[in-house]
Amino acid sequence: MSDYYRLIGPSIERCGQEGCQGHMGKFDSCRDEALYQMSLDGTDETTGDVEYEGYYVLIVLDASATVNLDDDAPDGTPQVTVPAGSYIVTENGQGFVSVYTYETEALAREDFKRAEDAYSAWLDQDGEDV
Ligand SMILES: [Zn+2]
Repeated sequence: MSDYYRLIGPSIERCGQEGCQGHMGKFDSCRDEALYQMSLDGTDETTGDVEYEGYYVLIVLDASATVNLDDDAPDGTPQVTVPAGSYIVTENGQGFVSVYTYETEALAREDFKRAEDAYSAWLDQDGEDV
């Protein structure tokens, strides 16, 4: 264990993911942290926002992808391989992250469309919240 990981010790957890050097405690696994990181890159389809229930990011991988979890790690970068598949990553206003995995891209797109429609309906309410 490097000093780096001791530093963030309490929040670091390990999972069965190959190459796991510990991941942030707010994620269930390295895979989830890697998917979250991919969701931040904004290259995929996104809907919702944190003012709403949260935002949703659809990630469809035709092939497995390798993600560097932390470029700042001094002793080599934890690399995580995310299997090919269809995922939706959500994060709410409290920063709570969930990752959903789908059997098929069609099912993921269906769910994403539902989230998008619900978000549009919410936006159309004219925002008389408070
Ligand atoms: Zn892990």
